[in-house]
Amino acid sequence: MLIELLPTFFAAAIALPLVWHGSIKSRAESRADLSYRVSSMTYWSGVILKRTDGFFKKFGDTNRTIEKRELQLKAVSEFPFIRQTILREFPYVRDWTHEERLKFEIRTLIIMRKKHFRGAEGFEISNYHKIIISATLARLTMGIRRKFDLPRFQLIEVYPREFYSRLIERDVKGLTLGNGRLFLSWAHFEEGHDDPSDKVHVGLHEFAHAIMIEFDKFEYTPAWADWHREADPVYRSIADTENHFFRQYGGTNMAEFWAVTVETFFEQPREFSMQFPSLFRETCRMLNQWPQEVNGEIVKW
Ligand SMILES: [Zn+2]
Repeated sequence: MLIELLPTFFAAAIALPLVWHGSIKSRAESRADLSYRVSSMTYWSGVILKRTDGFFKKFGDTNRTIEKRELQLKAVSEFPFIRQTILREFPYVRDWTHEERLKFEIRTLIIMRKKHFRGAEGFEISNYHKIIISATLARLTMGIRRKFDLPRFQLIEVYPREFYSRLIERDVKGLTLGNGRLFLSWAHFEEGHDDPSDKVHVGLHEFAHAIMIEFDKFEYTPAWADWHREADPVYRSIADTENHFFRQYGGTNMAEFWAVTVETFFEQPREFSMQFPSLFRETCRMLNQWPQEVNGEIVKW
């Protein structure tokens, strides 16, 4: 087995230093931009080469890299504002570990830089809006390792209020399209953000649709079958239950139920876990996120 791999190792031994050389040059050219080379092949080749001590063991362990990046981040001009805004707008991060906070901040920054934000119908989009929207996505995908930024979605268009969609021929508060475009009404986004426990958040809702599209309707996500099995009876019960724990809109179809479940998961985790423990557990598995529990009761995110 090992012998069969030898040619690959030799090829890598020759190719990687060349790539690494290129990476030194390009990194030096964009020193202020270091953190954005996270996904760059050349950068990672460099990281791998530098870690000759236990290359296989450490591959994939990004914690040390993240810590080292904190220093580099200080060179990124908008970073202090991102940190400040996150602390103010997502105050629960104060309870998180240093690593978790840093990961959240870095991911927010990466998303913010990668997405194209556009204001529509006169909406002037500022860095503040971009941070809140990016952090909402980062929050939702904190447990997802690859594609946490949902690369299929390039454009986020923000309207000042409800807007008319020609595609579905009615006014909407948010819309997610399979072609990688996501639309939001800022008025409703803000309303959802400002009330963190009413189970309604158009940002989380639309991003939940976007995750589903990004990951091919979860066709290759092993946890989806279990989630679906637990979700099905709950979903069916919405239509004929008054004051159901999940809002009526979740009963429209399974994609809407998924989006409504995600909103509920973040906004009322304790009640959700008490009333529908198995569905809650499966939602944790789907998002790879578990809130902190004490004696079986959720105390905080
Ligand atoms: Zn929806």
